[in-house]
Amino acid sequence: MRSCLSLSVLQELREQLISIKKLLKACRLSKRVLAEFEPLPVHLMEEPLFFSMEDLQKVKKGQLVAQARAVLNYAMEHVESCELCMGRGFICEFCRIKDVIFPFQRDICKQCAVCRACFHIECFLGKRCPKCTRIQSRTKGQMNS
Ligand SMILES: [Zn+2]
Ligand SMILES: [Zn+2]
Ligand SMILES: [Zn+2]
Repeated sequence: MRSCLSLSVLQELREQLISIKKLLKACRLSKRVLAEFEPLPVHLMEEPLFFSMEDLQKVKKGQLVAQARAVLNYAMEHVESCELCMGRGFICEFCRIKDVIFPFQRDICKQCAVCRACFHIECFLGKRCPKCTRIQSRTKGQMNS
């Protein structure tokens, strides 16, 4: 049972890693951080997800999760202290607090599945994505005119 739990934790971490890696790749100051991703099993960062026997062993021992988490923390530290990366963050359109949010911040951020815009989880709860609504009303307006 424990290994099932850590597998889902690892899945979650993996999605965060993929999302933060996309951001880092666009940053010219992130070479050192990207190098930290290299010791991770390559297939961990690729679709579709599969685990090798070796991975499963490591997951059981908690090594892979610890390793993935360490890389993620390191990457987050870079993003938070990097102007280039911070410039790529999102401002929640609901509350417009100046806090920049990123899709890898799973605990606070919810990403619209359609347009990929990011909002606070609490702000987005049960509401429609303002960006999508805008795009929809714009296309509707065009159709009417
Ligand atoms: Zn950066
Ligand atoms: Zn918000
Ligand atoms: Zn949207």
